[in-house]
Amino acid sequence: MYKIAVIPGDGIGPEVINSGVEVLKALSKTEPNLNIEFTTFDWGGDYFRKNGEMMPESGVEQLKEYDTIYFGSAGDPDIPDHVTLWGLRLKICQGLDQYANLRPVRLLPGINSPLRDVSEKDIDWSFIRENSEGEYSGIGGRSHKGYSHDTSMDITLFTRKGVERIQKFAFEIARSRPRKLLTLVTKSNAQRHGMVMWDEIFEEVSQDYRDVTTDKMLVDAMTTRMVLDPKSIDTVVASNLHADILTDLAASLSGSMGIAPTGNLDPDKRHPSMFEPIHGSAFDIMGKGIANPIGSYWSSVMMLESLGEISASKRLMSAIEKLTSEKKILPKDLGGSSSSIEITEAMINIILGKNY
Ligand code: ATP
Repeated sequence: MYKIAVIPGDGIGPEVINSGVEVLKALSKTEPNLNIEFTTFDWGGDYFRKNGEMMPESGVEQLKEYDTIYFGSAGDPDIPDHVTLWGLRLKICQGLDQYANLRPVRLLPGINSPLRDVSEKDIDWSFIRENSEGEYSGIGGRSHKGYSHDTSMDITLFTRKGVERIQKFAFEIARSRPRKLLTLVTKSNAQRHGMVMWDEIFEEVSQDYRDVTTDKMLVDAMTTRMVLDPKSIDTVVASNLHADILTDLAASLSGSMGIAPTGNLDPDKRHPSMFEPIHGSAFDIMGKGIANPIGSYWSSVMMLESLGEISASKRLMSAIEKLTSEKKILPKDLGGSSSSIEITEAMINIILGKNY
């Protein structure tokens, strides 16, 4: 029995996560050994309005009791973004030391990329985002607010331990993929301390992975390469902020922000990992019933893989690919007109082997 903590969060988070839970329940009916117990937590914007915090003080401790975490999104039009982000998602990632953020990016069958002349084999990437420090260290300060000499500072923090562990993880992922090619994203020309150490440690770690081919790109040049030469890319490792930006671009190049999944992983398995679609709360479409839930299905695929449920994860991925390739039921952002509910029903029918 797997215990899954479900945190739907805000905006379209509950719409896509509830859909994902329904699909997982259907999958578990058809997999004799896949028993799942879901526990839902009402943390997020509404919880903040009632309690003055996004999650309870004991939240991270509570989550340690679960095998894995399924997350929607955090964000609220009435609460500043830095409060919602730091009060929930980052609190969990940092509290559980989920230091590796893994983002697979693939052009799924039937989906069109905004890029010309690209096929499925041209966009098959794995992005690894440093998830515990860097530009999101949280260190900094603000003074003289409200005066003309208002001052603010955010400190980018790189530790040898933090950089080494993410680079090793990236090399392991690159090694597990057929092309064994790892690109280091950097900005060591301008950021002459932290990013220079980031590059040096990459070089050191690479000595233990001589079977992996490496190259190095400045982050600005990487955006161009993703657009102009996507098939030259395989596995990519980047800092917290750089990867945040690059993976939004990657998701859009692979069809839509609504498809892409991510895993916030503790590769050392001390704590549960957390899986979520990469998109945010998307208030512009909240409650309209048109949110694309595919990113939450693909997140479930990653979650099942991390639990070692390989056959179930493969079946779920095949169901997603059947849905996209047959194009009968597709959400608005992928050029269709189906609602989130219709997509959920279609996925359940595919999993149960029924017509849809
Ligand atoms: P955040 O909560 O991170 O501030 P956001 O609300 O600004 O995020 P994003 O998630 O970054 O929104 O997405 C940008 C836009 O892409 C949304 O406003 C929405 O129109 C569209 N979008 C994102 N996710 C989906 C989805 N699952 N289905 C359909 N459209 C989506």
